[in-house]
Amino acid sequence: MKYCYKCKRYTLHDECPICGEKTARKEPPRFSPQDKYGKYRRMLKKEETKWKKFA
Ligand SMILES: [Zn+2]
Repeated sequence: MKYCYKCKRYTLHDECPICGEKTARKEPPRFSPQDKYGKYRRMLKKEETKWKKFA
């Protein structure tokens, strides 16, 4: 993934198709899905154990 700092947009091209500026290699921001879903997994597990008591 390339990034044009001038237009502040991602592109797949070596040169920005909008302004013609050389683009830089940049990865899109990571949202750390592991943490995000880890939270829900833990919540789910908590619920699970809660319900197991009644089972
Ligand atoms: Zn550009």
